[in-house]
Amino acid sequence: MTKRVRCLIIGSGPAGYTAAIYAARANLSPVLYEGMQPGGQLTTTTEVENYPGYPEGITGTEMMDDFKKQAERYGTQVVRGRATSVDFSTSPKKVTIDNEEVIEADTVIISTGATAKYLGIPDETKYAGMGVSACATCDGFFYRNKTVAVVGGGDTACEEATYLSGLASKVYMIVRKDHLRASQIMQDRVMKNPKIEILFEHNTLGLFGENGVEGAHLVKRMGEADEEKVDIKIDGFFLAIGHHPNTDIFKGQLEMDNEGYITTQFPTTFTSVEGVYAAGDVADSLYRQAITSAGTGCRAAIDAERYLSEHNL
Ligand code: NDP
Repeated sequence: MTKRVRCLIIGSGPAGYTAAIYAARANLSPVLYEGMQPGGQLTTTTEVENYPGYPEGITGTEMMDDFKKQAERYGTQVVRGRATSVDFSTSPKKVTIDNEEVIEADTVIISTGATAKYLGIPDETKYAGMGVSACATCDGFFYRNKTVAVVGGGDTACEEATYLSGLASKVYMIVRKDHLRASQIMQDRVMKNPKIEILFEHNTLGLFGENGVEGAHLVKRMGEADEEKVDIKIDGFFLAIGHHPNTDIFKGQLEMDNEGYITTQFPTTFTSVEGVYAAGDVADSLYRQAITSAGTGCRAAIDAERYLSEHNL
C-alpha cells in the first residue's frame, strides 16, 4: 500500500531538521528522509562555533545529532533513505524513495542542500578535517596567524580570501587562469589587500604534511613550455571553486536559476509548485550558513502548515 504523509521532508541538514521540529510541533506528523549524507554538510566540518546556543562550540556531527533528537522528540519520523525521483504534477505529490517505495505527500519540504566542489585530488580526502576545508566562515578561526591558501578566482574565493585575511597572517589565492572571474569590486578588494598574494596560472597537484597540511605542490603554467613546479608552505587549504545544489531529481518539475538552485518567492519558501517548499542551501547560493538554513526550514514548515489548513488536509 502506498504510504501517505501530510508533510514529507527531504534532507537532514539544519534546514530539514528545523522544518521537522516546527512541523512536528504543529501536529503535521512529518516524515523526514535523511538522504545520502545524514546530517548534511555540517558533518564534514570540524567545530561549529558560530551557531548561537553553543557557547563552547560543538562538532558538526554532535550538533546535527541534537537537531535530530529534538525533531524526534516531537514525533518526527526520521527514516534512512534517499529520494530518487519526484512527480509534482499531481496532488498529493509523489516521491519515490531508493527507486522503490512511492510516498504520497500533501506537502513536500525540499532541504537537500548543496555540495561543495572539490578538485578531485586524493590529498583532499587524505587531509579532510586536517587542513582541508570548503568553508572559510566555518573553519577560518582555526588558522589565526597561520598561512592558508584559497583555490578559485570567483566571488566566493575572493570573499573567503578577504575573510581569512582578517585571521591568518598570509593568504595565497591559487587561480588557474591569468585573471579573476569575480566581480570588479571583489577583485579590487583582494588586489589591494597586503596579506593576499594571488598566484595566477597555478594549479594544485597535491598536498603534503605529516599530521595535517603543511604545504601544497603547485604547478605554474601547466602544460606550457615554461611549466614550473612550485611548493608553498601552508597550514590550511580552502576550496572555493563553487557548489552544486542537489537538485537533479527536481529538474523539469520546479523552476530553478541558471545554476540549478530552486527559485523561491521571498520572503516565503514557496517554489513554483503549490505545496512544495524549499529551504536551506538548495535555494540559497549566497549565505549558505547553518543558521540561515535553519531559519528557512522554520519558514518552510510554517508555509506547509498554512497550506494544509487552508486546504483542509
Ligand atoms: P564561480 O563559478 O563564479 O567561480 C568558480 C571559480 O573557481 C572560478 O575562478 C573557476 O575558475 C574556479 N574553478 C572551478 N573549477 C576549478 C578547478 N577544477 N580548478 C581550479 N579552479 C577552478 O563560483 P563562486 O562560488 O565563486 O560563485 C557562484 C555564484 O555566486 C556566482 O554567481 C557569484 O557571483 C555568486 N557569489 C556572489 C557573492 C556576492 O555577491 N557577495 C559571494 C559569493 C558568490 P575559472 O574562472 O577558470 O573557470
